[in-house]
Amino acid sequence: MMNTQKRKISILGSTGSIGTQALEVIEKLSDKFEIVALTGGSNSKLLNEQIRKFKPKYAFCNNRDELAGANYMSLEDICSNKENDIILVAVSGKIGLKPTLKAIECGIDIALANKETLVMAGDIVMAKAKENGVKIIPVDSEHCAIHQCIKNISQVEKLIITASGGPFLHKTTEEMKQATVKEALAHPRWNMGRKITVDSATLMNKGLEIIEAHHLFNMPYEKIEVVIHPQSIVHSAIEYKDGSVIAQLGLPSMHIPIQYAITYPERYKGIKSKSFSFSEIARLDFEKPDFEKFPTVKLAYYAGQTGGSATVCLNAANEEAVFAFLEEKIKFYDIYKITEKMMSSHKVMQNPAIDEIFEIDKEIRIKTREIIKQLGIN
Ligand code: MG
Repeated sequence: MMNTQKRKISILGSTGSIGTQALEVIEKLSDKFEIVALTGGSNSKLLNEQIRKFKPKYAFCNNRDELAGANYMSLEDICSNKENDIILVAVSGKIGLKPTLKAIECGIDIALANKETLVMAGDIVMAKAKENGVKIIPVDSEHCAIHQCIKNISQVEKLIITASGGPFLHKTTEEMKQATVKEALAHPRWNMGRKITVDSATLMNKGLEIIEAHHLFNMPYEKIEVVIHPQSIVHSAIEYKDGSVIAQLGLPSMHIPIQYAITYPERYKGIKSKSFSFSEIARLDFEKPDFEKFPTVKLAYYAGQTGGSATVCLNAANEEAVFAFLEEKIKFYDIYKITEKMMSSHKVMQNPAIDEIFEIDKEIRIKTREIIKQLGIN
């Protein structure tokens, strides 16, 4: 990036948790960025406020009649608009996949905050990125950390992904079985959307991150390790073949990885609020994750190693189960049980095409909802 030239960016999902924080970063670095388009799903009120403030040329929301102050443009057209230098994909869910592929096909770099893109179609997405010379810079703090640590991937022995452990780290399995929605949403370190916060409580979030790391860094699953680190200061690490370990540290704020991803390879002072102090942090703890208590991580390794549509099944079943939990239709532990049940009955298809991935996703969701209904808690 030329320092004198503004980087042209669009944000898919500007009204969400990552999107709003990205706009805070961009506001601080307003001389570095020009916003091409913002998209806001159903929250047109906030989107219109953002349009007034940031003046994008284009915008998208579900109901185009509610849009004010920018030209309506479809997600697909936003992603194939070559005015963009980079697109931040900050929507959650499978809705992120096709627009991301479109942008990659158009040679536009991606700052990726959408998990489903790699969990559902990592093989296709990474192959397309390579083919089109597109950079995919991860926003998620763990992958962003690894991205910052790696100089030469062929010299890396293993990836070490840290996990805060979520709100139930030191709860017993019995206590976890009784967990309420409120307890599951009370994450000790990170302020995030509801679905990902529940995923952090079950540790499925870490499972999905293992699958993403496998694709992003082309690393076999047996070389991806998880360690519990409750302070969320070490965001992840890598071990080189010679035994050197490089970790990336920082205060737990999503502004830092978001800024890294959208300004890469430049670094600016930006929104950083205070300087990092080891002595203030005083201690960093690490412990081995308990996969018996948090079996979702094992399920994710299994899905990843199985490959093909297994990770599509994992993602769809888990998401439906999390939604049902958030609606208090099932208990906390049922999230795992239901996902496990769907995984064990799923007939894996290797190398599914994009349309097949969406078809499988749909089927799994229908079946998962049937199982939830049969549980008949409501
Ligand atoms: Mg993360």
